[in-house]
Amino acid sequence: MIRLGVTGTDTGVGKTMVAAALLALLRQRGMRVAGMKPVETGVAPGDPASDAALLRAAAGGYDLPEDVCPLTLPEPLAPWVAARRAGTDVDIDALDAAFERLCEGRDAIVVEGAGGLLVPLARDLAFDSLFRRWRLGLIVVAGNRLGVLNHALLTVRAARAAGLDVQGIVLNSLPPGEAGTVEQTNGDALAEIFQDLPVLPFPCLPGPHDINVLAEAAESAGLDALIHAARKSLRTDRNL
Ligand SMILES: [Mg+2]
Repeated sequence: MIRLGVTGTDTGVGKTMVAAALLALLRQRGMRVAGMKPVETGVAPGDPASDAALLRAAAGGYDLPEDVCPLTLPEPLAPWVAARRAGTDVDIDALDAAFERLCEGRDAIVVEGAGGLLVPLARDLAFDSLFRRWRLGLIVVAGNRLGVLNHALLTVRAARAAGLDVQGIVLNSLPPGEAGTVEQTNGDALAEIFQDLPVLPFPCLPGPHDINVLAEAAESAGLDALIHAARKSLRTDRNL
């Protein structure tokens, strides 16, 4: 089974769109898929504009919303802080159970984190640990703006230090406006830095998000390379 985790170089860089596009592409390739957003903050349960709702729809809309996103928290804060302020905490066992249910009978799962890789779920637990626990290959969504070289290097270095298998970088175009020199040079610079990884520029997609539009964008951006990388690391895993 293909297991992918999607993190970002920062919050608001397009993780959800890339995760949804990956789900749409996997489905188009004939796979049974599930999407998951383990914790979402700044939304009410069942919010149709939530990340979880988009991921669930991109995966076909079969899964229980409470499995796709077991914990929603009203304040737009890191999960640990939002949970504490809501008088609760992030229940890892509950997340594990939902993850297992979503994996049942599926060929692939795509899990979207919240913010960046080291965003805390608890004081001493961040998304790097959760992704490692679930044996997810990591996709890094990088926002195409000034600072992305540093943020991508930090993210990949932290991921590898945590024992995660990084499978590629998606360089997401951010609105608004015309691409300047920074946006025009980031792709080549990242490709040169990360010679061992696919670096895939992805377009800025206006909403609402039709599943066919997502799949087409994913195909044109070459996200198949990430599926191949995930398959390859599965084979390596089995050989261990
Ligand atoms: Mg998101």
